[in-house]
Amino acid sequence: MIEVYPILCRAGTMNNYSYLIIDKNSGVSAIIDPSETRPIIQTCEKRKIKPNYILNTHHHFDHTDSNLDIKKKYGAIVIGNKKDAHRIPEIDIAIDPQEKFQLGDSEAQIIEVDGHTIGHILWYFPEDKILFTGDMLFNLCIGGLFEGSIDQMWQSIEKIKALPEDTEFYPGHEYTMYGAEDALWFSQQSSEVLSYLDTAKKRLEQGYPVAPTKLMIEKKCNPYLAAKTKEEFTKILQR
Ligand SMILES: [Zn+2]
Repeated sequence: MIEVYPILCRAGTMNNYSYLIIDKNSGVSAIIDPSETRPIIQTCEKRKIKPNYILNTHHHFDHTDSNLDIKKKYGAIVIGNKKDAHRIPEIDIAIDPQEKFQLGDSEAQIIEVDGHTIGHILWYFPEDKILFTGDMLFNLCIGGLFEGSIDQMWQSIEKIKALPEDTEFYPGHEYTMYGAEDALWFSQQSSEVLSYLDTAKKRLEQGYPVAPTKLMIEKKCNPYLAAKTKEEFTKILQR
């Protein structure tokens, strides 16, 4: 079983989330996408944790900028997709997405989702049904199509939709309110989206992340997941 501690980084500008995750049985721990050094070290010190690993979802600087600092301070081993090995700073293990990764007693599966970038991966812990989505999936929206095609993004969306409905996902940014307008438009202001936004606003006002959200709710409210066909999906992308 893993415990998850969200760490807001680049607060007020890019609003990234890095995460400290700890396998409860063994105490083995990792940082997902180290974005900014200071808040990450603060969280580690507060929890008295020396992270053993760094797990990257993709190469963008706001997800890898603190790889070096966290590696230097704690000796953490950096892991990323082998396809991204040439552009993930300080990478130690270039993993094949077919492989599994053990964080202590917790097994992680790697799901390759081309679209935002080529070689973007999700870290999925099936026992806990916890999914780290980087810049692929946010609350009510998705990441920009920087390197992949619409077809690839659609295939990636289908991979996420195939996961268990009660999977909880943790995104790489706090972008819920950016997605609000499209979600309201696409759902024609459905009661589900209105209540999603109501809860999200309250959590943000109290200083909490909107995440985690269960995929079953996201599939109803996030227009990119709610789209039934590739044509419908394309229409929202091009809106
Ligand atoms: Zn990115």
